[in-house]
Amino acid sequence: MTHDHAATTLRTHTCGELRSEHIGQTVSLCGWVAKRREHGEKLAFVDLRDFSGVVQCVVDNDVDVRSEWVVRVTGIVRARPTGTENSSLATGQVEVGECRVEVLNTAEPPPFPIDARADDVDEGIRLRYRYLDIRRERMQRNLRVRARVNSAIRSAMENQGFVEVETPFLMPSTPEGAREFLVPSRKEPGSFFALPQSPQLWKQLLMVAGIDRYYQIARCLRDEDLRADRQYEFMQLDAEMSFVTQDDVLAAISEAVVAAAESVTGVRPPQIERITWREAMERFGVDKPDLRFGLELVELTDIFLSTEFKAFAGASSIKAIRVDALTYPEHASYGRNKLDGLTDRAKKLGAKGLVWLKVVEGGQVESPVAKFLSDTERTELLARTGAIAGDLVLVVADEWSTTCEVLGQLRNDIGRPPVHEGPYRYVWVVEFPLFVGADPHTGRPRPGHHPFCHPHPDDIEKFETDPLSVRALAYDLVLNGWELGSGSIRIHEPELQRKVFNALGISDDEADRRFGFFLQPFKYGAPPHGGFAFGIDRLTAILAGEENIREVIAFPKTQSGADPMTNAPTPVDPGQLAELGLRLLPPPAQ
Ligand code: ASP
Repeated sequence: MTHDHAATTLRTHTCGELRSEHIGQTVSLCGWVAKRREHGEKLAFVDLRDFSGVVQCVVDNDVDVRSEWVVRVTGIVRARPTGTENSSLATGQVEVGECRVEVLNTAEPPPFPIDARADDVDEGIRLRYRYLDIRRERMQRNLRVRARVNSAIRSAMENQGFVEVETPFLMPSTPEGAREFLVPSRKEPGSFFALPQSPQLWKQLLMVAGIDRYYQIARCLRDEDLRADRQYEFMQLDAEMSFVTQDDVLAAISEAVVAAAESVTGVRPPQIERITWREAMERFGVDKPDLRFGLELVELTDIFLSTEFKAFAGASSIKAIRVDALTYPEHASYGRNKLDGLTDRAKKLGAKGLVWLKVVEGGQVESPVAKFLSDTERTELLARTGAIAGDLVLVVADEWSTTCEVLGQLRNDIGRPPVHEGPYRYVWVVEFPLFVGADPHTGRPRPGHHPFCHPHPDDIEKFETDPLSVRALAYDLVLNGWELGSGSIRIHEPELQRKVFNALGISDDEADRRFGFFLQPFKYGAPPHGGFAFGIDRLTAILAGEENIREVIAFPKTQSGADPMTNAPTPVDPGQLAELGLRLLPPPAQ
C-alpha cells in the first residue's frame, strides 16, 4: 500500500511503505517504538510502527528509546543481509540503517502489548485504553475499512442523485418501536427532547418538502440492551425517495451496499435475490435467513391430516397446526443427552415438544414415536424430507409461527457458520406483515415495523377483518443471517395513516396530539414515497471479518452499556439536576 499524501515536514515516507525499490534513499520516518532488540555490542534493532505498518531500523546501542516512545528516524534504506529477510512483514526485505533518532516524546509502558496478542486482553481493558488499542493493526485496518464503506456509500448515493441533508438530534418522542434516550429541557422543566432512534420523520417531511432523494449517514440512538450486533448509538445509511415503487428503492439501496462491499472485498456481489417474509419463515424459520447453508424446513402438515398420533393430530387448516421437519444429515448417531438437549432447547423456544426420528436402513425409523406412525405416514415423511439412513429428522407440530421459529432456531444452532465466514449471501426479505401479534397491555396489534409503512395494495380489503394477515410494502436487507436494515413504502394519504393509527389503538385525538406536527404536513401534498436504512456498523463488521460491531467502532460501549475510558454514564452534580427541574428517586432496592 502506498500513502501518496503521507509526506509531511517531519517525514518523507511512512514506515509500512518501504520496499526494495527504496534502497539507497535517505528517508525520515515518524512513529512509535514497537520493539527494541539488542544486536551485538554496538547496535540495536528498533521496529518502528505507524498506521501503515512496521519497519526495522538499525540504531546505535546507546540510543535510549523504549516501547511506545514517539520518535523520528532518519536513515538510509538498505537490503537486509541475506538470510535475515522477514517474509511475514511487508517491509521485510529492507531495513533502515545509519539511523539518527530524535525522540519526539517519551511514554509510560503500555498496559498491554500493542500487537495481535492484545486480542486476548480483557475487553474492558482494551476499551479503557482504546487510544492504545486503536494503535494496533487490527483496529487501524477496521477503522479504515469503515471509512472506505462510508466513502463508497456516499459516492453511490450521490451518483444516483441523492442529496445529503442533516436532520436534528433534539426532537420529540416518536413511535418507532425502540426505547428512546430522553434529554431534559432546561427551559421547560418537566419536558423532554428525545434523541433520534432514526431520522424517519424528518426524511418523510423532506419528501413533502420536495427534496425528492434524500440521504444521510445518520447516527441513531436506541436505549436497548447491547449485544454483539447492537450498540446504543449506531450509524445508518438513511435514505428516502419520492415517486417510487418498492423496486426503485431496492435498486438504489442495492447499489450502495454493493458498492460498499466491492470497495472492501474487490468483488462486486451479484444481483441481490429476494424472497417474501412468508417464504423466509417457512423455508428457514426466521425473518433474517442465513442462505449460506441448506437445512431447509420441510412441511409435513398434509401427511398428518388424519393421523392417530396425538402429538401431530390437529394438523388441519382449521386448527392451524403446522407440522414441519428439519433433517440433520448424518446425525442419527446422536445419543440420549444430545437428543434431550435438542428437546429442551425446542421447549425453551416455545414448542410443546420435539419429535426426533433416526433413519435406519430399509426405510425404517427409530424413535419413541415410531409405533404411532402408520406405514404410509412414515414412508411419506421420508420421501418428503429426503432423509436417508444415518440422518436425524426433527419434527415440530405447533402453531404456524411456533413451528417455523423453533425449527428455524434449531437450524441456526446446528448449521450456522460464524457470521463473517464467507461467502457473502445478501437477500431482500419483502412483504413483511403490517401488524404483529397483540400488545399484552392493550390487546391491539403492534406495528410490524413502524406505523408509517404502506399496506400491500392487494390486502387493503382485509385491513379491518383480518389485520394480522395484511402484508406491508416493507422489506429488510439481510446478510449472512444478520439484519442489515429495513425500509418501506410509506403511507402518504392522511386518511390511511389515521386508519393505521386507529388499528394500533391510537385515536385521532391522540394521533393529533402526538404526531400532529407530522400528520399536518401530509395535508399539503405529500408525494408517494419510500425509503430504507441499513446499519453501517453491521455491514462493516461482516466485511472486516469481525463477529462483533464493537471491533469496527472507534469508541464503543461495553456489553453492559458503559464506557470504561471516560466512565460514562456518570452521576451529575445536584446543581445541574436542579437547573433541569429533576430530582432523583432513591436507587431501587436490590
Ligand atoms: N427508520 C427505519 C429504521 O431505522 C428505516 C426506514 O424505514 O427507512 O429502521
